[in-house]
Amino acid sequence: MSNTCRGYADPDRSMLELVFAPAKEWIGRSDEEIIQATMAELEVLFPRYFGPNAEEPACLRKYHVVKTPRSVYKTTKGLQPYRPAQKTPIPNFFLAGDYTQQMYFASMEGAVLSGKLAAHEICKAVQAGTLPARQDGAALLAS
Ligand SMILES: Cc1cc2nc3c(=O)[nH]c(=O)nc-3n(C[C@H](O)[C@H](O)[C@H](O)COP(=O)(O)OP(=O)(O)OC[C@H]3O[C@@H](n4cnc5c(N)ncnc54)[C@H](O)[C@@H]3O)c2cc1C
Repeated sequence: MSNTCRGYADPDRSMLELVFAPAKEWIGRSDEEIIQATMAELEVLFPRYFGPNAEEPACLRKYHVVKTPRSVYKTTKGLQPYRPAQKTPIPNFFLAGDYTQQMYFASMEGAVLSGKLAAHEICKAVQAGTLPARQDGAALLAS
């Protein structure tokens, strides 16, 4: 945060950003309840700074709870085959994105992998001659 927003930089303070997931049981709860549970978790994770036995007690100065319902796809058993592949039945049309067929669920890793798989399919199509190479002659195929 202090790298991207210099106004927030303070060498004596820290900002923690935490994600509750899955949030089904939490989305309807009050901000106070969520913060209370978060602080309890921080006591477990960082006993040096939080809780009754903290050596260097830290205090919570400010918090903000953001609730994003339906933020990611639910990982439900048996649904993987329903994700579309990167190669589609439509010529010259490829898909990338966390929702496509790839081994990770909806995540940044999944999104990156889907992009690689889409690039691979494009390269295969060029090699097979089913996709025209760029007219300016630039190499589309990466080694
Ligand atoms: C609150 C939240 C927390 C998350 N936390 C994590 C995490 O900690 N770790 C992790 O790995 N993943 C996390 N994820 C998931 C991760 O962010 C996504 O899986 C990933 O960003 C998906 O990448 P993507 O490129 O497939 O899709 P996106 O990043 O959604 O990109 C799709 C882009 O297409 C654009 N678009 C949509 N429709 C059109 C259109 N018609 N024309 C032009 N552009 C269009 C959108 O504006 C968007 O920019 C989180 C997601 C959310 C919402």
